[in-house]
Amino acid sequence: MSASVAPRLPSIDGLLRHPACLPLAERYGRESLLASLRQLLDELRFSVLNGQLSAIEISPDVLAGRVGERLAQQQRSNVRRVFNLTGTVLHTNLGRALLPEEAIDAVQMAARYPLNLEFDLATGKRGDRDELIEGLIRELTGAEAVTVVNNNAAAVLLTLNSLGARKEGIISRGELIEIGGAFRIPDIMARAGVRLHEVGTTNRTHARDYEAAISPRSGLIMRVHASNYSIEGFTARVPTAELAELAHRHGLPLLEDLGSGSLLDLTRWGLPAEPTVRQALLDGADIVTFSGDKLLGGPQAGLIVGRKDLIAKIKKNPLKRALRVDKLTLAALEAVLGLYRDPDRLAERLPSLRLLTRPQAEILAQACRLQPAMAGVLGEPWQVSAVQALGMIGSGSQPVARLPSAALCLRPQVSKRMRGRCLLTLEAALRGLPIPVLGRIDDDALWLDLRQLDDEPAWLAQLPQLQVES
Ligand SMILES: *Cc1c(COP(=O)(O)O)cnc(C)c1O
Repeated sequence: MSASVAPRLPSIDGLLRHPACLPLAERYGRESLLASLRQLLDELRFSVLNGQLSAIEISPDVLAGRVGERLAQQQRSNVRRVFNLTGTVLHTNLGRALLPEEAIDAVQMAARYPLNLEFDLATGKRGDRDELIEGLIRELTGAEAVTVVNNNAAAVLLTLNSLGARKEGIISRGELIEIGGAFRIPDIMARAGVRLHEVGTTNRTHARDYEAAISPRSGLIMRVHASNYSIEGFTARVPTAELAELAHRHGLPLLEDLGSGSLLDLTRWGLPAEPTVRQALLDGADIVTFSGDKLLGGPQAGLIVGRKDLIAKIKKNPLKRALRVDKLTLAALEAVLGLYRDPDRLAERLPSLRLLTRPQAEILAQACRLQPAMAGVLGEPWQVSAVQALGMIGSGSQPVARLPSAALCLRPQVSKRMRGRCLLTLEAALRGLPIPVLGRIDDDALWLDLRQLDDEPAWLAQLPQLQVES
């Protein structure tokens, strides 16, 4: 047997001078190129040593190509735009509300220039960031005072801790909910240092249940919007006005976590009724908390509104500093709230409301228009139809209400045994497009709900790139 000399891998220096690598150095920088080449050669050396690969197969051209792919991959950001065709409009995992142009402009301004975040331009003295939006929120909700934090979970935590630490928080057993992402009312109460005093039963809680729980240890009464589930049938719940009267008779504040907390009555747009912040305050809630990026249609934020003395106490809590909002959020929030001053035009200008109120007929017409293109790309093995569908608001608003919508329904024409796999393959292929397309699988079909398909040209343009192995 003749001893063979192991062929050598191309050298780093040689590769750096290779014509295919020169533009890569230009584009991504010499250091990144070098690091990528080293990493790739290390991996290949390992495969060669293991006998999985022969060094002869590895030409400088192939290496340059692979390094180019790798660098391009690295440069692509992890935060990516997607098409949300799931049917859920305010999708927590897909970033909830889309901001209106006015808010996007405000964010750009706040990102680009110094601003009066905590600076009073009238007096030249130090200011308070909450004051930038206090006037608008008071006007829109009727609240005496306002403070804003990072999200509604933070709003609830901060409020509970500020008003009820080392005391008991009285709450109905029907409202001890979990919202998802591990936000559970009993856990938040414990973290806030409030001792949970649950009253009533899951389906029925009466005024006398709250009354019997009140003692010198009580710190507050809390009410939580059931958000993502509904209790139906033999139920009883004390109206906010009555609960507020009861709380005040005993000198306790009533805290209401509204979750979505709409600023306006949504029924004027034909949407399911949600309690409004103004009504909760009129009913006597002392503090109301709600999210900025749910029905309000703004950036992620938690709004705390209500009685002036209680808000002052909340603002003094050192936790406030840890939970405060940043300048970009405040800029966006002010712009979004500004749109609420003109409710007549709100549905045109606020993307979440515009999408929520798109008429089913319009969405169905869009589905019919797009059906041939989709059918053409998928070909024989798929039945593609434009059909009516039911979507939802999302983010815990009206969990049982459905939004009449329309979708492209993609049904594999294969044996029942094969269907599941086919659907998952198509789902993955849609996710693999340059702008990933996200739908939902239900009833042996993949549904693309078109309520939120605004950018039809971009969607159509990438469709030919869809590759589904059959
Ligand atoms: C969504 C929700 C929260 C949490 O709000 P985030 O803004 O997601 O932190 C808290 N309480 C209720 C009732 C909710 O619906």
